[in-house]
Amino acid sequence: MIRQNIPLGRVMGIPIGLDYSWFLIFALITWSLAGSYYPTEFKNWPLLLYWFMGLVTAIMLFASVLLHELGHSAIALRYEIPVKSITLFIFGGVAHIGAEPPSAKAEFHVAIAGPLVSLALAIFFYLLQPVVAGVEPLLGLFKYLTYINFALVAFNLIPGYPLDGGRVFRAIVWGVTKNMRRATLIAANVGRIFGFLFIMVGVWQMFTGNFGNGLWIVFIGWFLDHAAAAQVHQTMFQSQLAGHTVSQAMSNHCAAIPDEMTLQQLVDDHIFGSAQRCFLVNHGTKTVGMMTLHRIKEVPRSDWATTRAAQVMLPLDQLKRTSPDTELWAALQQMDRDGVNQLPVIRDGHIIGMLSREDVITFLRTLQELGT
Ligand SMILES: [Zn+2]
Repeated sequence: MIRQNIPLGRVMGIPIGLDYSWFLIFALITWSLAGSYYPTEFKNWPLLLYWFMGLVTAIMLFASVLLHELGHSAIALRYEIPVKSITLFIFGGVAHIGAEPPSAKAEFHVAIAGPLVSLALAIFFYLLQPVVAGVEPLLGLFKYLTYINFALVAFNLIPGYPLDGGRVFRAIVWGVTKNMRRATLIAANVGRIFGFLFIMVGVWQMFTGNFGNGLWIVFIGWFLDHAAAAQVHQTMFQSQLAGHTVSQAMSNHCAAIPDEMTLQQLVDDHIFGSAQRCFLVNHGTKTVGMMTLHRIKEVPRSDWATTRAAQVMLPLDQLKRTSPDTELWAALQQMDRDGVNQLPVIRDGHIIGMLSREDVITFLRTLQELGT
């Protein structure tokens, strides 16, 4: 899930990164500023000045977007909601908030903070315009930043998830109904409607002589619809899992192997020809660790015959773990956080089962078949 990006450093402890798709939009914006906006507003500049100001303005545009995301992040951190990173990408910026907000109020404040920062920036640049009226490049820059920050406020306040306005809307529905999942479903479905409207408007523009702009609006609509649909699915998934615990979905048949066994033996005798994917590693009768396909893969094939399970296993005390009474949804979130596909289920220091993502899917399927 985590995409490669170029790190720019940290602000308030949050890593800031550039997605590769950002360069495309940055180049397009610089080009349109230098080739269209500045030459239309101001004649008789040297060519180089158009390009220099195009570049500076594009950088300031993304600085504005970054400040918007930092606005969300600062408030999230005040509510002790972790912010994993901020990424600038082709559609602007996104702050990766690491957890669901604890309350409707927190969600409202985090969501509204970004547009408020953009609004403050718009007003700031608007008020600066008379001050720099005699300096054409600065006037052009501040005019553009006023416009773009107002546009950021207007676009982000559209009340469809995943836009900020959709989150504000979700917070209000959540506050009124006291039901976060229902609020999320409503806001995400409204988001899908807006995504669909964007696509319609974009297509209409494409066929009425504004092809480039129309195509761009179609892309934004598609992106919004995609994000909203993913949220709908996740929320339905979450409601189906609600009230169910790890012990109901875990599997108990994790085969045990002695720690003296070589990887070659393990692969030949236990993995091929059986569906086993995880193994408890025993020293005598005591479980000392766990072996996964992932660990085996890290050892070169030529060393399998001479490498023993004990050398490669994940030792018991280093294992990310869950307990049988943990909510399934919480266990899945832990897998995401820890970047693992399965968790040993441990009670009183003993592994009593394994929970993998597949186990959760199988459990859901069983629930559906039973019609519960
Ligand atoms: Zn925002």
